Amino acid sequence: MINTIYCVGRNYATHAKELGNKVESEPVIFSKPNSSLVQGNTIFLPDFSHNIHYETELVLKINQNGFKISEKEADSFYDEIAIGLDLTARDLQTELKEKKLPWLLSKGFKDSCFISSFVHKNTLPNSINFSMNLNGVERQKGNTHEMIFNFNKIISYISYFIPLKKFDVIFTGTPQGVGQLNHHDQISLFLHSKEIANLKVK
Ligand code: MG
Repeated sequence: MINTIYCVGRNYATHAKELGNKVESEPVIFSKPNSSLVQGNTIFLPDFSHNIHYETELVLKINQNGFKISEKEADSFYDEIAIGLDLTARDLQTELKEKKLPWLLSKGFKDSCFISSFVHKNTLPNSINFSMNLNGVERQKGNTHEMIFNFNKIISYISYFIPLKKFDVIFTGTPQGVGQLNHHDQISLFLHSKEIANLKVK
């Protein structure tokens, strides 16, 4: 079960740079509708965009309700980690950003959100590697060490404004290497070198 889907933008300096965005002093937070979740292992590309980008991210699952959680306490508010895809209609997002309008439609369309199965954090090291292969070629690779805002800071920051609820999930940002998806693409997601999900694009 998944409640609200929160996302952090620009959390890896190398990715902020590739899109020409500046690194912010506080996390950039947005959300995706629950109905944007991919059901099963097939992503159906929408017809309103010609540039759907993949963004591969670590995803935390909140395990209890909390409001104004301190960074010190934040660690006890998640037990499980997955890999997700925060799909983005980059053409529409660029248009909306230029007009200083909300990104929602470019980030919240049907099938714009994929979340793999979750793994208990105790089975992972402190510094977590993840990667994404597109048609057998590695296109994105990240490590939690490279994040500008760490998991505890993100949980604490969001909860200062919005009460977090059990089963909320948080996408923690994408490293560099984002790019376009095309029909018939094959995506593999790896959490610490272990393949955790395999998807088809239609
Ligand atoms: Mg993202």
